[in-house]
This record gives sequence, structure tokens and C-alpha cells, in this order.
Amino acid sequence: MKRFALCAALILSLLFDGCASTAAPQRYEKVYLDVFDTVTTVVLYDSSEQSANARFDELHDILLTYHKLYDIYHTYDGMNNLCTVNQNAGIAPVKVDETVLDLIEYAIGMDTLTDGRMNIAMGSVLQLWQTYRDAGLDDPDNAALPPMDELLAANQSANIGNVVADRLASTLYVSDANTRLDVGAIAKGYAAQQAVDAMKSAGVTAMLLSIGGNVCSIGTRADGSGWKVGIQNPYGDGTIAIVQVAGQNVVTSGTYERYYTVDGKRYHHIIDPTTLMPSTLYDSVTVISSDSALADALTTGLFCMTIDEGMALVERLPDTEALWVLSDGSQQMSSGFSAYLAKE
Ligand code: ADP
Ligand code: MG
Repeated sequence: MKRFALCAALILSLLFDGCASTAAPQRYEKVYLDVFDTVTTVVLYDSSEQSANARFDELHDILLTYHKLYDIYHTYDGMNNLCTVNQNAGIAPVKVDETVLDLIEYAIGMDTLTDGRMNIAMGSVLQLWQTYRDAGLDDPDNAALPPMDELLAANQSANIGNVVADRLASTLYVSDANTRLDVGAIAKGYAAQQAVDAMKSAGVTAMLLSIGGNVCSIGTRADGSGWKVGIQNPYGDGTIAIVQVAGQNVVTSGTYERYYTVDGKRYHHIIDPTTLMPSTLYDSVTVISSDSALADALTTGLFCMTIDEGMALVERLPDTEALWVLSDGSQQMSSGFSAYLAKE
């Protein structure tokens, strides 16, 4: 709870959305702690508190539904979700809601786009890292790395071809008993995009949604200026840049988010599928894109690519820009990123 409160304060401080306008519409704000195991903040402009609350409730319902369907750790009564699919790996296809197939098909496309660097089928490898990280955080003196032979064995089944989505039958099947899905790299961004699309369809014209730093915007602030979003300094307090967006989405992945220390060295949570070790190239990668799911998938994928590969990929994607903080602390931007930097 304390950690949540701290996170909430941090995220709110990163969203410089300005003061409420005296003229209608008014600014309303909400925080949720029960979706995607992180802090979600929403700011929107609306004509009345009652109307804003109805929007918040609708948004919360949507996010809760996605949270449950995309949960790989828990099952829920009356629903098959990705945890059910993982439990049935190598056993049987599972009937799933079409939004589960939507996510998985999108993720398979992102696997192709990132040349396998963002791979949702590497859950068994990621699970090993998580087990050792959790143990290391509980007992720092005995923190250890997952043994490479175990990582290599887990990686045998990290094949995206083992993920079989069948639209006609509405089923999802993980065909190898040792393969596990992990959608941590993409689920928040994908769900956020779906929620934003639903809010737009419901008539919302000005909103800023941050799901644990996956930031989506609709329209502008009431005064017509873009929403300001701070990009966290990966080395400490404060920001390295403030960007201004009007309808775009901003997603950052960083080595500071989830890590543990072994023999004085930090090991973070983005695992390079080629080395099976945490990527060592960057300390944060930020993507601005018209699509939040793309931005989320890409931050993880770019983390595991050289700057040349990543730059080439970003430059050929429309409406997509990136900012890399390399592990020596230097920064690189794609050609259109600076257009988003806020002018003080
Ligand atoms: P977060 O915002 O939670 O830091 P990211 O978008 O940076 O999320 O994704 C990190 C998460 O994605 C990890 O916690 C893990 O579950 C998963 N992951 C780590 N490395 C990879 C990878 N190379 N491909 C796919 N998923 C990954
Ligand atoms: Mg990501």
C-alpha cells in the first residue's frame, strides 16, 4: 500500500496537466490500484462530476475486464483467461473471449515486427528470472542468477509457433507443455489502447490515462495545449525530458522498474531472447506512438536491439518516435522525437 502511494505520487507528479479551467468543462481525476498490478491515474475534462464519474466507472470496468482476461497468474470464476491457457499448455485448446485472441494475434505480429525480440512465448524463461529475482529480493545476501543450463532448457520451448490462435473455434492453444505465455511486455499498452478507443466512441474528447507509466492521451487539455508527460530519469529523481502530446501515447521501459542485485550488480526485468540475460544496451527506452499497444511492445523489443537496428525500425514506422538512454547515459532520438519536446 505504501509503495502504491509513493508510486501514485510519483506518477501524478509526472503528469503536468495544469490547473483546472474556470470555464466548463472541468477537470476530474481518479486513481485505481486494482488493475495490472500498478497505479492507474486518469484525468479527464467533462461538463459535470456526474458525467465524469460515469466515464470513470465505464473505464474502470473495461480495465478490470482486460486485467482479468490477460492475467497469467490467477484464474477467475466463470472465465477462461491466459492463466487458464497456460495451465492447459500441451493439454488442450481453451475457449477464450475474442479480446484474448485479439491481444495474442497482435503480440504475434509484434514478435515478427521486432524479429523475435519481443516474444510472448518466452514465459518459462521469464518465470525463472522472476523466481530468482523474488528470492533475491527476499534474501539479498543469497541472491543468485538463474543457472544458464536451466535458462537454456526453458528457452527450448520459447517458440512463438507454439501459440495457436483459432478464430473459427474461438480457442487459444499453447501446443508445447513447457511453453508459457507472458504478456507483461504488451498487455498494459494493448488494454490501454482498447480502453481509449472505447472512451473515444463514448464521446470523451479530452483524457489522459496512465497505467503504470503507459500513458495514453485523447485530445488536448481544456486550454487547447497538449498534455505534458515527464520521462523519468533512469538514474534517480526527476525527469530527463518532458514531452507534449495531443492524442499520442507515451510508453517508457526502464532498468529501474524491476530489478535485483547479485554480487553488487543489478539485473533488471527485460530479458534479451538471444542471450537469455537482461539486456545491457540501455537504461530506458521511450516510445511515442499513435498506438499504445505498438508503443508498449516496441519499448521491450527495442531494449533488445542495437541502436542501429532499433533506429531503422522506428524510422520506418509511421507516427512512431523513440528516445533511448544508452547504458553509458548518453541519449539518442529518432528523427521526429524532438518535435514532441515541450517548449517551456
Ligand atoms: P513494464 O512496464 O512492466 O516494465 P515492459 O513493457 O517493460 O513492462 O515489459 C517488461 C515485462 O515483459 C517483463 O516484466 C516480462 O514480464 C516481459 N518481458 C521481459 N523481456 C521480454 C521479452 N524480451 N519479450 C517479451 N516479454 C518480455
Ligand atoms: Mg513493453
